[in-house]
Order: sequence, then structure tokens, then C-alpha cells
Amino acid sequence: MNYIVLDLEWNQSAFGKENEVEGLPFEIVEIGAVKLDSEKNIIGKFSEFVRPQVYKKLHHITKDVINISESDLKKARYFKKVADDFIKWCGEDYTMCIWGVSDLTELQRNFRFFGVKNPFSAPLYYFDIQKMFSLLYEDGKIRRSLEDAVDMLALEKDRPFHRAYDDAYYTAKIMQKMNLECVKGNFSVDYYAPPRSKKDEIYLVFGNYSKYVSKVYDSREELMEDKDVLSTRCYQCGKLLRKRIKWFPSGKIYLCVAYCSKHGYLKGKIRVKKSDDGGVFAVKTLKITDEDTVQMIRERRNELRKKRRERRLKSL
Ligand SMILES: [Zn+2]
Repeated sequence: MNYIVLDLEWNQSAFGKENEVEGLPFEIVEIGAVKLDSEKNIIGKFSEFVRPQVYKKLHHITKDVINISESDLKKARYFKKVADDFIKWCGEDYTMCIWGVSDLTELQRNFRFFGVKNPFSAPLYYFDIQKMFSLLYEDGKIRRSLEDAVDMLALEKDRPFHRAYDDAYYTAKIMQKMNLECVKGNFSVDYYAPPRSKKDEIYLVFGNYSKYVSKVYDSREELMEDKDVLSTRCYQCGKLLRKRIKWFPSGKIYLCVAYCSKHGYLKGKIRVKKSDDGGVFAVKTLKITDEDTVQMIRERRNELRKKRRERRLKSL
């Protein structure tokens, strides 16, 4: 099995979000990738500009940060041609690796928009090297910039940053230093194509937490009535657990606390995500936690309750 280390540069509407074209918030203008064999030797390179068709004027970020000019892109081929060649170049048996979380979603959006057949399986599992780097060298939560990671590993800085191939190359160099065996169980799921039916819902158990991805519903109300979304099952022993703190909304997420007589407290978190076709789905994680965290969650809930009560009184 090979690794495809991918990095994309994209452009967006230079005239503000209100001039964004539906289905294509970001138009890819460069694809860069490095192919590694199973021993992490570099065995291939892909680097090509893409000629924009939707956002022809470059946003200042594209121009100034990524350093791509309109004349660079004028001579380039259109997305469908470049993408078809890229897919062919990837081969058959590979794991996608990216620095961060967004490139694979945007790539698939561009596939759909420009009528390229999507070669990826659904669900698409991939390696987020930025997350794996954090798990291996730091606390697992902090996210470093690519350049910081290059500095931390004292790798040679022999090329610029922020260009697709160069960033893919640096990511590959970082992977060569990493003990991937230790973190390969911590793969990520891309949410571009969330489950469409109950039988396709995703259940994953990692070292110290579990993850569930629900099917897509039309509305948040429907979603938050689904028993599988709300249930709290201990990922260590499989027991269905009672909640000590019921699900409550806290900002953009929902929180709860359940209790397993064998494994202690579990903190539940639900993120409601939007699918591209206007539906919603849930990503729920359950993680064993301690009394202090439970106390913090309880205080948070009480505070929100109090605020709600005050608002209600004011409106009377
Ligand atoms: Zn348990």
C-alpha cells in the first residue's frame, strides 16, 4: 500500500461571500502530491496548476499568501483534465494523507462541480498528519503549522511554504520521521459524503474514545430525536449507559455525561454538521473522563439554565 500525500491551493470569490457560486466555495488552482511506498520512500511526484473557470480573479490570499499569479494559471489546463490525470497517477491501493482536515472535502466538491467521477470510497478514511504529529509529539490537541512542525523536527527548509507541491513534500518529510505504526489507528473520517442510511452509519473505537457518525436527516429536530444519536454506550464494555447529565446544547455542540459502573464517567459530545445537500448529521464522540470535568460540565449546564430562565422572565 502506498501513501498519497496531498496538498491543494484554492481560490475563492474575490468579491465577497455573497458572490460565491453555490456548490463551489473554493476552486482548486493547484494540486501537489507526493507518493510514498509502504516504507515511506518517495516514489512519485504530482504538481500542476489548474486554470480557474469560476473565480477567474484571484482573491488577495491566493495572490499574496500562496503567491500564485493570474498569468501562472492562464497557461494551465482545466480542472477535469488535471483531476483525471491526478486520479490515474494515484493508482489503486493507497491511503490519502493531508496536513489538516479540509483538502479532501474541497477536492471532492470540485470533483462534483466539474463532473469528475469521484474515485474515493465512502466513508473515506485518511491520515491527518497534523493530528498524528500532535498525538505523537505533543498532547494530541494542539495543531501546529506545517512550518512549526518542520522546525520542531529540525528538517531542512530548502523550499518555500504555502505552495501545493512544496507543502506536500514537507508533509512527506515529516511522515518519514514519524513512527506511523504508533498512530495509524488514529485515522480520520472525511465528512464530504456522510452516511445516507442507518446501515451505513459509522461506529469507530479509538484508543481513548469512540466516534459515531449518523445518517443525514432533513432537520436538526429529527436528528436530535434519533435514539442512536442520543444513546450513550460504553465503548469499553458495550453496556448501554444511563446519563448523569442529559444532553444539553452548549454553543455549537451538545454535551452529556453518562456513567458506567465498571469504567466510570463518559463525556458525550455531539456536533451537528451540515451536508452539502442541506441536510444535517451528527458526529458523536464518547470519552472516559474524570470528576473534575463532570463538575465543569454540570456548572456549564446550570449556568445556561439560569440564563435561559432569566431570558424567559424578561420576555414576560
Ligand atoms: Zn463500561
